[in-house]
Amino acid sequence: MTDFVTVIALGGTIAMARPADGSTGAVPALDVDELLASVPGLGEVGVPLRTIAFRSLPGASVGFDDLTALAELITAEIDAGARGVVVTQGTDTIEETAFFLDTSVLDGAPVVVTGAMRNPSLAGADGPANLLAAVQVAASEQADGLGCVVVFADEVHAARYVTKAHSASIAAFVSPNTGPIGYVVEGSLRLLNRPADVLKVYVPQGAPEPTIGLVTVTLGDDGAVLKAIGDAVDGLVVAAFGAGHVPVAMVEPLTALAQRMPVILASRTGAGPVLAETYGFPGSEQDLLRRGLIGAGFLSPVKARILLRQLLAARAGTDDIRKAFIGEE
Ligand code: ASP
Repeated sequence: MTDFVTVIALGGTIAMARPADGSTGAVPALDVDELLASVPGLGEVGVPLRTIAFRSLPGASVGFDDLTALAELITAEIDAGARGVVVTQGTDTIEETAFFLDTSVLDGAPVVVTGAMRNPSLAGADGPANLLAAVQVAASEQADGLGCVVVFADEVHAARYVTKAHSASIAAFVSPNTGPIGYVVEGSLRLLNRPADVLKVYVPQGAPEPTIGLVTVTLGDDGAVLKAIGDAVDGLVVAAFGAGHVPVAMVEPLTALAQRMPVILASRTGAGPVLAETYGFPGSEQDLLRRGLIGAGFLSPVKARILLRQLLAARAGTDDIRKAFIGEE
């Protein structure tokens, strides 16, 4: 069979339900075929669907092993003739999994990640509409070469820039730096922008899993946490204030860490880049970059952590890591 769309299910709210006895809150319950059966209008997309029940997990429990196996499965589906692949999963980690897939799937067919904020047993459940829109995008010729996108509430977001910005709203996904790159309108993909190519990182099978720390800087931080985690991590992302600033007490511990491992300087603000040459006080972005930290550009802290994980798993050296992050500026 060629020219089909594959739907791969990982779990998440889109596939959850409350047990009939009401003993717990919503838990993963629906399989991928039950999911599709709940979507009106799928037949009208005009493309055969292949379904794969891959995992049944809350988004919070998806790990790098799952993602590595998922990227291989997606590649196999594309090699077998899939026009595009849809992944349904928990929204809690979509911004990370989508970016992981963007850096991992080398083929040109689109990978479309979606989910739901309201589970199928709630009024106004959004899963069916999101799944339909995701299949419409995956089936669209316009989506060729897009890499990985997140489709939610009829908006199309680049994996690199999308973030979950609300814990409960059905419009939870936004791209603060760019806005959506397109929309699904009357069943068709309307693409307004194409994101620049994402760096692809080949991670060999069985590569040892690096441990990457992520420390959010807060007022009055005295550097004690940094000193404590130093021996436990292979790389670190610092979600700093503003354009890349930390309290002066963190400067020495960060300098020491940057001599031993890659330390990425990201911003905790949620939008905008880390600067490079605006401020000069101790703990400013200029000071920290001079001390060997690497700016994350426009990447959010969690996405910077994904890219650093990929690079360290692929055994990239400091120069290559630096070049990869310069590409995000
Ligand atoms: N609230 C989450 C979701 O939307 C739960 C999860 O990530 O599994 O799916």
